[in-house]
Amino acid sequence: MKLFNTMTRRKEEFVPLEEGKVKMYVCGPTVYNLIHIGNARPMIIFDTVRRYMEYKGYEVNFVSNFTDVDDKIIKKAIEEGVSAEEVSRRYIDECKKDMAGMNVKPATVHPQATQEIGGMIEMIQTLIDKGYAYAVSDGTVYFRVKKFKEYGKLSHKNLDDLQSGFRALQVSGEEQKEDPMDFVLWKPKKEGEPYWESPWCDGRPGWHIECSVMSKKYLGEEIDIHAGGEDLIFPHHENEIAQSECCNGKIFAKYWMHNGFLNIDNRKMSKSLGNFRTVREISAQYDLQVLRFFMLSAHYRSPLNFSAELMESSKNALERIVESAGRLRDRKEADSRDMTEEEKTLLAEGGSFITKFEDAMDDDFNTADALAAVFELVKFANTRVNEESTGAFAGSLLDILVKLCDVLGLIVLKKEEVLDKDIEALIEERQAARKAKDFARADEIRGRLLDMGIELKDTREGVKWKRV
Ligand code: AMP
Ligand code: ZN
Repeated sequence: MKLFNTMTRRKEEFVPLEEGKVKMYVCGPTVYNLIHIGNARPMIIFDTVRRYMEYKGYEVNFVSNFTDVDDKIIKKAIEEGVSAEEVSRRYIDECKKDMAGMNVKPATVHPQATQEIGGMIEMIQTLIDKGYAYAVSDGTVYFRVKKFKEYGKLSHKNLDDLQSGFRALQVSGEEQKEDPMDFVLWKPKKEGEPYWESPWCDGRPGWHIECSVMSKKYLGEEIDIHAGGEDLIFPHHENEIAQSECCNGKIFAKYWMHNGFLNIDNRKMSKSLGNFRTVREISAQYDLQVLRFFMLSAHYRSPLNFSAELMESSKNALERIVESAGRLRDRKEADSRDMTEEEKTLLAEGGSFITKFEDAMDDDFNTADALAAVFELVKFANTRVNEESTGAFAGSLLDILVKLCDVLGLIVLKKEEVLDKDIEALIEERQAARKAKDFARADEIRGRLLDMGIELKDTREGVKWKRV
């Protein structure tokens, strides 16, 4: 399996640090609003990478954070007159609903920045002790960029060029910095903002430090893959490398993967241009499986343009797979005979599409070619399975189709519904946890139900639930 490593700018053979295991970290969204379809791209792409790794037999430890302390969250909380925690909690829940709709698997762990402040203070202290960071008189702590000689290695930027660029950008209020390139690790609180005590001042962490700390805590000092959108290469990922490698004295991540940007009507999609679409808006018009299909129809590193036409053609294409799967299932259920010799030979031919699919995925996750292999299989099944075919033959082709689509996270046969009684059992367990004041467990159950597409509402008449 080969993947393109942003660090070396080459496709490299994937060799995990530990045999059979993959440690993967994906930078997650800042939760102050419903996620937009740009945020959905890395979610769908790296979920597909994870699924393919699992298909290949790797045990994947997949960590993706929620940034739940940030200027934008605080601004929203002030506007609404509620706490920042309430805002972030609301949008984490909403994000999980969208993820369930897009069939993005929940991460092994979804850490939240506000729950990891102790670890951040510890890492900042280590960096200070090692001479890589310094506190100034107002309690701000900065990372001393020039001390890390490899700074710029991911984004392939030259330190001298960077320095002149930063000098021009010097922000007022940052005069105490030793160097314009230095970035914030910890900053003092402002009136009305959430804050934590620290050895330097009451305040909150900078954004970059959270990923270094959460990646280390949940995956260890060295990981296999670190991923996110290409806008994160600089400065976010460059800064994460500086922090982690200076603190731990080890290479932070072996492979760096970045998805290209999603544009809209051929323009960059951004909040300031007002041309962004939320996943929720799309879900009013389409099954989110269509959005997933659309994202997979291009290579993940290419820019992708969102348009009504492409969504329509994705919808039609996906329907072709679903219809084919339905036909195979009907034939399988209608007939109980074993395969004929002739069908066995044909099945071997059908199996060649698996090789095609894997070759595409092995080549830096070429999902567009992988989908082409799926369509060849669909065409094959549509022409070879008829009223005379045995149920075993139809069933075997269906198994292949479902398996390949599952790698892509595409559901081609209707999922079995989660039974009401299972949901109610979990709700009861949550009530018991709350009674016992085990709020962490209660929250965990609530999160699990959300992952299953079940939303809870605590009302005066008790807990109500609905499928989302
Ligand atoms: P943010 O909440 O802005 O930190 O973004 C969360 C993730 O979404 C990051 O990996 C970003 O790189 C990614 N992202 C944001 N906008 C886009 C876009 N238009 N296209 C692709 N990825 C994006
Ligand atoms: Zn990050």
